[in-house]
Amino acid sequence: IESRHRLRGGWQMAPYACQRRTPLLHSNQPLTEALETLAEEAGFSGSEGRSLAFTRAASVLKALPGRLSTLEELGPLPGIGEHSRRVIQDVLEDGVCAEVERVKLSERYQTMKLFTKIFGVGVRTASRWYQEGLRTLVDLQERGTKLTRQQQAGLRHYDDLNTPVERGEAESISRAVQGAVQRCLPGTSVTLAGGFRRGKPHGHDVDLLLTHPEAGREAGLLSRVVSWLDSQDLILYQHSQENSYALQEGPEPPGGRDVMDRFERCFSIFRLEVQGGPGAARGWKAVRVDLVVAPISQFPFALLGWTGSRHFERELRRFASHERKMVLNSHALYDSRRVWQLWAYVGTWG
Ligand code: ATP
Ligand code: MN
Ligand code: MN
Repeated sequence: IESRHRLRGGWQMAPYACQRRTPLLHSNQPLTEALETLAEEAGFSGSEGRSLAFTRAASVLKALPGRLSTLEELGPLPGIGEHSRRVIQDVLEDGVCAEVERVKLSERYQTMKLFTKIFGVGVRTASRWYQEGLRTLVDLQERGTKLTRQQQAGLRHYDDLNTPVERGEAESISRAVQGAVQRCLPGTSVTLAGGFRRGKPHGHDVDLLLTHPEAGREAGLLSRVVSWLDSQDLILYQHSQENSYALQEGPEPPGGRDVMDRFERCFSIFRLEVQGGPGAARGWKAVRVDLVVAPISQFPFALLGWTGSRHFERELRRFASHERKMVLNSHALYDSRRVWQLWAYVGTWG
């Protein structure tokens, strides 16, 4: 898209994050950290709109070609609201923003962070626990808080799961899964997606995408792979979801729930043998692994959708919808107008 915004000093900025080069290492780290803390805090309070506004502002700063030294350099750049500008100004002038520091020290923020880092605990659960007066992981155990099987596993492996996964560990898990799929269905490919595919040196989990070049062969693969891995004592926890795409009566309406896809998948915790690092004494470490199975015809969309980042995906879908009148998700890209026509047509005799 051509409509780039010109910044003072000759900098240019495309309006959608998915059109901008956003390097992993950039020159405005203190600013983006401050904004992302506020984005996180807004998410904890259920203010999705406010959270998105801070995330957008941070995303713009990540794409700047150099270090920002004054607010004026940004000019009237859209995508950075009043509140974000104040935060940026504070950090530029004082090195810190009082509001951000207050948030970081607040009991609510710290507790929400602690609880949402448990595998299987989202903002709603964490918030309920906070309201009930729970503050620590020990509180959860001592007060007999009712936990799902997933949360119990999350709590049991809390420290391991909050230790970053190194690229080498991700590759090692990828090879283990590769070995398993070759036994279950030769020819199946295993692709490392998520943050590692974006070049991040470490991540919070390992995202692996499975597909087979012959359509339909992938059916039933996941449960066999997981059983085999389990029989090798490689799995500490897992829960699987069936493919629900075929069960859908039609495509999601544009702007509908576009976050969760419908692939068959397995959310798991692997037992990874390690020599060094935090698990060295025991000889193993717990690692979160997402396994996703895509039919070959949907694989390109699945790969794109599972590479992230979350913000990049959101922006890509917004671009498709607003600039191209198309719907993009992890299954397909299609012209939304034609689908609506088709639906109208089906409606006449249905
Ligand atoms: P990290 O290094 O912290 O793991 P990441 O970018 O890999 O960072 P993930 O949460 O693993 O983050 O997600 C990777 C991508 O997979 C996301 O950008 C998202 O688009 C997609 N994704 C994750 N969970 C789901 C889900 N339940 N349904 C659909 N897509 C998902
Ligand atoms: Mn990931
Ligand atoms: Mn993941």
